[in-house]
Amino acid sequence: MLNDLLRYCEAERDWALETILALASLESPTGDKAAVDRCGGELAKRLREIGGVVNRLEQPSAGDHLRAEFGAGAGQVLLVGHFDTVWPVGQIERMPLDLRDGCLFGPGVFDMKGGIAIGMLAVRALKRLNALPGRVVMLWTSDEERGSSSSRQVIEQEALRSHAVFVLEPSLPGGAVKTARKGCGEFLLKVQGVAAHAGVEPDQGASAVHELAAQIIDLQRLRKLVQGASLNVGVISGGTRPNMVAEEASATVDVRVDTAEEANQIETLLRQRIVTVPGTRLEVAGAFNRPPLERTDAVIKLYGRAREIAFRLGHDLGEGHTGGGSDGNFTAALGIPTLDGLGAVGAGAHALHEHIEVADLPWRAALLAALMSETQTEDCEL
Ligand SMILES: [Zn+2]
Repeated sequence: MLNDLLRYCEAERDWALETILALASLESPTGDKAAVDRCGGELAKRLREIGGVVNRLEQPSAGDHLRAEFGAGAGQVLLVGHFDTVWPVGQIERMPLDLRDGCLFGPGVFDMKGGIAIGMLAVRALKRLNALPGRVVMLWTSDEERGSSSSRQVIEQEALRSHAVFVLEPSLPGGAVKTARKGCGEFLLKVQGVAAHAGVEPDQGASAVHELAAQIIDLQRLRKLVQGASLNVGVISGGTRPNMVAEEASATVDVRVDTAEEANQIETLLRQRIVTVPGTRLEVAGAFNRPPLERTDAVIKLYGRAREIAFRLGHDLGEGHTGGGSDGNFTAALGIPTLDGLGAVGAGAHALHEHIEVADLPWRAALLAALMSETQTEDCEL
């Protein structure tokens, strides 16, 4: 059956390519509801054309999410991905869709319209061979690049009904899948000081800027206390004039962790911070918005199965970890076996040279099709 799947996907490679071109030509930056919905409308139409029962999950401000269901039966596997991109409308003039040297270049082709096409081709192949295993649900969402605040709940609900979740995010270099992702949090440190004339009566003031500077330096100590964590103070602001003791200052901190335990430790340490400049006050707001995707036994088992199928297809499927989060972080944290990075092979996500390798589209689709089929069959036998 694997050879039949591959043969079908090879024959339909240009269909996948055409799908990617159609989706990428409709630019869809997160937050631009009209633009994202235009792309979603095209995707919904194409999902119906391949036999999906499509529901548009309407959103007031984010773009509408799409849920497409194929087949029937008790068991369900879930394909997850997003059709929003980081690129503004008009970017396509700066980086036009361009097929050259076996690659397709353009905004959003790698992250991750290529992955959506791979998921669709995999389902088409299974349907053609009458091998659709139980129920396959696809969730294509519109706000992943900005933290998935409007889609998280629906992703989690759908994952809880599924044997396994396959995330069609871009692969790591060379096609490797992602078996671990860091958890991500964003915290705001806000210091309230007391304003005073810096020349006349500096001692009457309490500098929020000085306190914030001390806090930022001290944050590096947390890295040593919590081994897997990284903290980046990416944005700071404070003060109004050079001759004033600053009344306010704040910093935004991006935090990444490997495990849920580290997330708890960091959060506790951040909330317990004390000030060093007398007269200032510190408020800490924020939270972890994505739990880490940890390399659990369930993840390893799914990867082992994928690796074995890839081997039969003539590919050595590597694995790796990344500091970036995805919606796979949510599903894995619920204990649902999750394999991420099954999407296109390529490079340059969020970069001007974003592209995919066209020749890899068919085997990635065949791999996903076989993986869905074997996961359903094995799990239903248990
Ligand atoms: Zn992505």
